[in-house]
Amino acid sequence: MAGWSIGKHRLEVDVRAPFLTILLDEEKMLEHVIPTHLLGDYPLVVGKRKVMLRRVRNLDVARSEVWIDGVKVPPSEDPIPRRKPPMDGVCEVHPGGTAGYREPGAMPAAKLACGICRVGLCNTCAAVDGVRCKSCFEQATAEMVRAERELRIQGPLLGVALGALVFIFGLAFDIPRMAGIGLAAIVLVGINVGIGYAKERREAKNRPSP
Ligand SMILES: [Zn+2]
Ligand SMILES: [Zn+2]
Repeated sequence: MAGWSIGKHRLEVDVRAPFLTILLDEEKMLEHVIPTHLLGDYPLVVGKRKVMLRRVRNLDVARSEVWIDGVKVPPSEDPIPRRKPPMDGVCEVHPGGTAGYREPGAMPAAKLACGICRVGLCNTCAAVDGVRCKSCFEQATAEMVRAERELRIQGPLLGVALGALVFIFGLAFDIPRMAGIGLAAIVLVGINVGIGYAKERREAKNRPSP
């Protein structure tokens, strides 16, 4: 189940067909409303934040994205705690701060500590999710992009592997029809990837920015 930590809250999307179940802090927020195959934008309110749940195509399957203020929030496997800053702590990453020309006293007070690396943060230096510093957020974003790319090729790869297996089996046991089915399966995967890719491109072009 995909999950996002936003401020003090945890948002989770369960994609068991036929409808999405959206949980906020483990309580059902929305169910029986959004079909799992339907793509589109669904505005949600998480604490004080306006959050956009976006269902987009990933070749052949729909995928969930969470956007805040036009920024895509990387999900996290486990909840990220909203940490309190140390007493009298200042923002440790403020521009012109620790490494800069300003006196430490001129640094704004820390309002929270990053849920990942615990660095003290003022509100402007926290990422849009309100739990991470910007550098931990960016690192998670890079991981999200990598995971999305892997997910994309997993399905088609499996299809091709199965097709190849059937094809080899057909050849080995001299069953031409079986070999033919294996080949056809590989071609079909290719066609599906092509169609999925074309749809994905068209939808991305028509989608407004969140
Ligand atoms: Zn700051
Ligand atoms: Zn951090």
